[in-house]
Amino acid sequence: MTASPLLSPGPATPGADPSGPLYESAVARVRAAAEEVGSLREVALILSEPKNEIVVHCPVRRDDGRWELLEGYRVQHNNILGPYKGGIRYHPEVSLGDVKTLALLMTLKCALYQLPFGGAKGGLKLDPAARSPSELMRATRRFTSALGVNIGPDYDIPAPDMGTNAQVMAWMADTYINFAEISQKVSARGVVTGKPLSFGGCAGRESATGQGVVNVLRVLLPGRGESLRGQTAALLGFGNVGSWTARLLEAEGARVVAVLDHTGGVRRAEGLDCAALARYAAEHRGVAGFSGGEPLAEEAFYRTPVDLMIPAALEQMIDAERADWLACRYLVEAANAPTTPAAEDLLQQRGVEILPAILCNAGGVVVSYLEWRQNREAETWEEATVQRHLWTRVERTADRVLQRSSRTGQSLRTAAYAEALEHLSEVYQARSVFP
Ligand code: NAD
Repeated sequence: MTASPLLSPGPATPGADPSGPLYESAVARVRAAAEEVGSLREVALILSEPKNEIVVHCPVRRDDGRWELLEGYRVQHNNILGPYKGGIRYHPEVSLGDVKTLALLMTLKCALYQLPFGGAKGGLKLDPAARSPSELMRATRRFTSALGVNIGPDYDIPAPDMGTNAQVMAWMADTYINFAEISQKVSARGVVTGKPLSFGGCAGRESATGQGVVNVLRVLLPGRGESLRGQTAALLGFGNVGSWTARLLEAEGARVVAVLDHTGGVRRAEGLDCAALARYAAEHRGVAGFSGGEPLAEEAFYRTPVDLMIPAALEQMIDAERADWLACRYLVEAANAPTTPAAEDLLQQRGVEILPAILCNAGGVVVSYLEWRQNREAETWEEATVQRHLWTRVERTADRVLQRSSRTGQSLRTAAYAEALEHLSEVYQARSVFP
């Protein structure tokens, strides 16, 4: 591409983007990485808006006979590398701006890991904890049918995210298959990943994002002359990602000394029993009241001295105030976009190293890619095969980011974004812009 002037650089003033400050700060980070490399401004321009934003409204019948209208989103951010790919979130406060941001991050994540996927994300405004299984099933089926031909195994492939799981994916796939042509009903199951094992799922998918976080640390820490054994960790969020990261860290000889979720906090200086805590949290819908540790207040959680602070809950929870409380050496972004720009500046000044989300939490999408491949080939791989593929992909990617960061002096975030943008740029340069 030639260095032509950019005709639509997007809003320059904070607050000017109707998608909200989260989207604006995500785009600003992309632009900053592109500027730092110097030759990627055209790609940053293309990535500054999604290709498609789909908003649907679905009438759903409650168990008591009342009708309600649910709002759902699917944002298809970019598909230059392959089919759109990204999770579906069920949350009462999910917004189009959040979904746009998460879709952009998926484009970057898939590009960084050199997967043959683009980026997308979806959301449905509902609280899954307040729904019966049959209400959840009806809402899922109606949302899937509203998305219609906007999803498909070669076009846009959803997966689980916050508030959704393998069961929700099974309902989505079943609904899609019921609308598929007779000759396509077998291949149609590849429309979603994160399905139950019995229905075309992949061994190791449930723990994959946590395993990816741990694999990144297994590459990064030796690069810093350290190992995971003996490190102390605190987890913010103890759902799928948080609880698996904790259990797998414990298996590597690290000590999880503090956990906070939406119900409260718990600490144990000698290390929590993470498997027992995961069982307790699943049964009681949170960690508060766990008898294997002492209760912990919110501010005390953030102030706990640890090697690894691991946000694994909602976006933007590490703001400037909480960043000021942190007493960690590494901030490991297991959640998407957990750190505000102001918090990031503050932590960098204090020498806390931030491991960016697009590097840390890609284990889920890597294993989703393996599931999609198995569905296409009508294969079922052993978990050891899945783990080998996941390890190789994480090791190769984390190595590239580390090497770029030490070669250029860039932060790990800028190095990761630059690697992703360069990969996208190569494809855009080869194809150019139509017409
Ligand atoms: P989850 O619904 O299983 O768990 C979410 C956790 O966040 C729960 O423990 C909940 O208590 C906690 N939480 C919510 N609000 C909180 C609050 N105000 N204070 C403290 N804790 C709070 O979700 P998940 O799948 O584990 O996803 C967590 C994060 O990881 C999200 O950012 C998600 O986008 C990201 N992520 C998930 C996957 C995946 O495969 N599930 C993959 C990549 C990234």
